This record gives sequence, structure tokens and C-alpha cells, in this order.
Amino acid sequence: MTITPVMPEMPDEKCEHMNFLVNASIGRLSVVEGGPITHYSADIQVKCSECGQPLEFVGLPLGTSAYRPTVSIDGLELRAPMVLPGTEPPKGLPGFSVRIEDTEQ
Ligand SMILES: [Zn+2]
Repeated sequence: MTITPVMPEMPDEKCEHMNFLVNASIGRLSVVEGGPITHYSADIQVKCSECGQPLEFVGLPLGTSAYRPTVSIDGLELRAPMVLPGTEPPKGLPGFSVRIEDTEQ
């Protein structure tokens, strides 16, 4: 009998991806270093707990923003801005987004 280890870098192609691991970290953010916390960010990654295959988030702009959900450049991390109910994130916070256009006509 041969036991073949399943490595996260080589997902098992026969895995049916039935169970998942979610890694979520919550960022407490302020406008200035050491200032009062004004808003938050949930950074979320999901992968199959059996074979390690990561899942990509789709349909969101690439980048980071305090005002709308985005994904990392590789698509593997959802970055969701949050505030306490009844509050809004401070205006004018920096961020960036990348738009990929299909240049083939
Ligand atoms: Zn799997």
C-alpha cells in the first residue's frame, strides 16, 4: 500500500471539494496612525480543507477600497470594508483598483 501525501500546491483532481476552511482577519482602521478606529476591513480567504485548492472570488474589482468590496490581484482574498451600524467610513480615504480590459476585438 502506498500513501501519497496531498500537498496544497498540487490539488487532488479527484477531490469533490466538499468541505472548506475560511481564513478571515478583521482590520481595525483609522485615518491616521494611532488615531481613533473609524472603520474596519474583513479580509477573507477560502480553500478546500481536503486538498487545499483555493477558491477565487469573482465579479469584484481588483484592488483595495474603504468604500466597496474588492479582491486581491490573484483573486484569492475578498477585502470587504465594514463600519459599525449607523456610521460611514471617513471621506477621502486612499485606495486603488485595477481594471483589466479585453483588448482583442
Ligand atoms: Zn478539494
